[in-house]
Amino acid sequence: MAKFEGYKDIYVFVEQKNGEIANVGYELISEARKLVASIPSLGFQVVGVLLGHNITDKANEVIAHGADKVIVVDDALLEGYSTQFYADALTQVILTYKPDSFLTGATVLGRDLAPRVAARLNAGLTADATKIEIDQTKVEDGEALLLVTRPTFGGNLFGTIICPNTRPQMATIRPNVFSMDAPDAGRSGEVITFTPEWTDTDPKVVVKKVIEKVVEGVDITKADILVGAGRGAEDCLDMVKAVAEELGGEMCASRAVVDDGFADKSIQVGQTGKTVRPSLYIACGISGACQHVAGMEKSDMIIAINRDPQAEIFSIANMGFVGDVKEILPLLKEEIIAA
Ligand code: FAD
Repeated sequence: MAKFEGYKDIYVFVEQKNGEIANVGYELISEARKLVASIPSLGFQVVGVLLGHNITDKANEVIAHGADKVIVVDDALLEGYSTQFYADALTQVILTYKPDSFLTGATVLGRDLAPRVAARLNAGLTADATKIEIDQTKVEDGEALLLVTRPTFGGNLFGTIICPNTRPQMATIRPNVFSMDAPDAGRSGEVITFTPEWTDTDPKVVVKKVIEKVVEGVDITKADILVGAGRGAEDCLDMVKAVAEELGGEMCASRAVVDDGFADKSIQVGQTGKTVRPSLYIACGISGACQHVAGMEKSDMIIAINRDPQAEIFSIANMGFVGDVKEILPLLKEEIIAA
């Protein structure tokens, strides 16, 4: 008999706000597809879980993005995010359907919701992960043990965490770590409607007013081309910004540049900044500290400019130029535009 009888499939929490689904849900579904494909003998499926109100019509979008099934909990109490009602509903879904693993985006909402649900279920949770694999040595015994990796000790080490004794294996995963497959409108899947049984409909917390954050400047996580400024480019930031714009992209920065007061925290890339995966990342005067690399290593193409030939950034770059940013970046820009 399998160790965790009745537990099956990889579930993904599909976060939405006002009916708009956050990309991280689709990134996790795409990754979950790869994970289930790596354990064909277990016959696992990818299941999306969508909570909210008047969101049932979104289920087909979730299927188009790779879910085999979508469990929809559409209830007036889930109109806006409420820790209490979301945690209640999600706990019931998990107790009813017994997912083998449950993945949530490490967003503000996900970081609030997932630990609460894990505590109610007495399930293990790995927070803020950047990589997920399945231990292939256990598959023969019918077990899909997740190996979940996350930065630790200030980003200087990566720890791989397992939850061998409880199900579901829960994890929150940073947005932008995994790529999102293109949707296929022709995919078919099953939509299951779940009606929660509320034991207490009295809200413990009432949200009086929502003030939307005014986003100043650009959202670097959406940019296709990023030109990253490090401390070595602090004396030519205007030029770096201008090059970024000429290439149709945005400028981002290392923490050193932010800490030195030359850039806003909103454009910081890295472990304590944003995770980005543009098609092109040009690292200018960035040493390649692991905390920075953690936020940009998944970029499709990395070009590094650094005057130190031993700089760590070269070890992850697809192409590198040893020299001064001020001399090389303008030439590189011309080459890219001409290409
Ligand atoms: P430096 O390390 O000072 O490197 C500057 C580089 O520029 C050098 O390699 C130098 O050779 C080169 N250079 C100098 N002049 C030129 C020139 N004219 N032309 C070409 N090259 C030149 N960092 C982040 O970026 N993001 C994070 O999210 C982040 N989170 C952190 C979290 C923790 C808990 C800790 C402890 C640290 C974190 N850091 C983060 C800081 C990180 O460890 C590094 O200190 C930082 O990334 C260094 O930034 P830098 O490469 O721009 O600067």
